[in-house]
Amino acid sequence: MPVRVRFAPSPTGPFHIGGARSALFNWLFARHYGGALIVRIEDTDLERSTRESEENILNALRWLGLDWDEGIQVGGPNEPYRQTERLDLYRRYADTLLESGQAYRCYCTEEELAAEREELLEKGEMVRYMGRCRNLTPQARAALEAAGRKPVIRFRVPENHVIQVNDLVRGEVSFDCSGIGDFIIVKSDGIPTYNFAVVIDDHTMGISHVIRAEEHLSNTPRQILIFEALGWQIPEFAHVSLILGQDRSKMSKRHGATAIEQYQAKGYLPEALVNFLALLGWSPGGEEEVFSLEQLVEHFSLERVSKSPAVFDLDKLNWLNGHY
Ligand code: GLU
Repeated sequence: MPVRVRFAPSPTGPFHIGGARSALFNWLFARHYGGALIVRIEDTDLERSTRESEENILNALRWLGLDWDEGIQVGGPNEPYRQTERLDLYRRYADTLLESGQAYRCYCTEEELAAEREELLEKGEMVRYMGRCRNLTPQARAALEAAGRKPVIRFRVPENHVIQVNDLVRGEVSFDCSGIGDFIIVKSDGIPTYNFAVVIDDHTMGISHVIRAEEHLSNTPRQILIFEALGWQIPEFAHVSLILGQDRSKMSKRHGATAIEQYQAKGYLPEALVNFLALLGWSPGGEEEVFSLEQLVEHFSLERVSKSPAVFDLDKLNWLNGHY
C-alpha cells in the first residue's frame, strides 16, 4: 500500500504548536517514504469553524515550508478537502450501515438521555447509551416521527468485542467495546460526527497511516468498529504524545506562546521552529540537534518517536533560532 497520510485540522481557532507538530510529523513521514500528504479541513463543527482559522492554518503550513500533495475536486489545485463539501458521501455510507442493520435511528430526547445517564450513575455503572431505540418496530418509528421527533443515527456496537491496535508509537493497545455504547454517527441535522466523517475520509482518501495527537487514541476503537462494519482495510495508527510545559503540566500560554502566528510575528525563523517541533517527541538518536529540513526528512522515523510526553523548552527554541 503506498504511503498516504493526512493532516486533518479543525479550523476552530489559532493554529497551535501541537497541531503544527502533527502536521510536521505527517509531512516528514510522507516525504521520507516518497508518499503523499493530504490536508483535510474538518469543519463539521459549524458553529466554531471559520474560514479565517482555515486560512490561518494553511498560511502557517506554507510559512513553515510544509507543502501538501492532494487537490480538491472543486476550487482548483492544491486546495484542501473540506468535510462540509463531502456531506453526500457521508450520508451514502450512513445509509449503507442503516440498510445492513449496523446502524439505526434513535429518537431519544435530551431529557430521556439525561435520565438514563443519571440512572447509570446512581447504580455506579459506566455511562453509555443503553440501546433503547435498538429494536424499534417500523410502527413505533412512524409514531415517533409523526410526533415530530428528529432522529440521530447510532452505530450498533457489537457485543463482547475487543479491539487490538498495534499503535506504531504506543505499541499494543486493547479496548473492550462493552463500555462504549452505541454512539452517534450522524446528528439530527444530518451532519456526521467526527468519528464517522474521519473513517469515511480516511478510507476514500486511501490513507495508509493515521498519525495524530494522543488525545484521539480513545476515539480509535470507535473508528475501527466503523472500518470493520464497512469491510474496509484498517490503516496503521500512530498516536503522538502530549506536549507538556517545563513544570510537566499540559502546555499552555503560561509556558510560552502557543500559536504559530505568534512566533512568526516575533520574527522566529521557520527553519528553527520546524527543527524545534521535530524534536518535540522525536529524537534522531545522536548528540546533534540542529537539522535542516532535508536532514529531518532523511532521518525521520516513527520508531524514534517517544511515547512519553514531550517537554516544551523555550530556551531550546531560542538557542536553535540563533543557529540559522
Ligand atoms: N480534526 C481533529 C483535530 O483537529 C484531528 C482528527 C484526526 O487526526 O483524526 O484534532
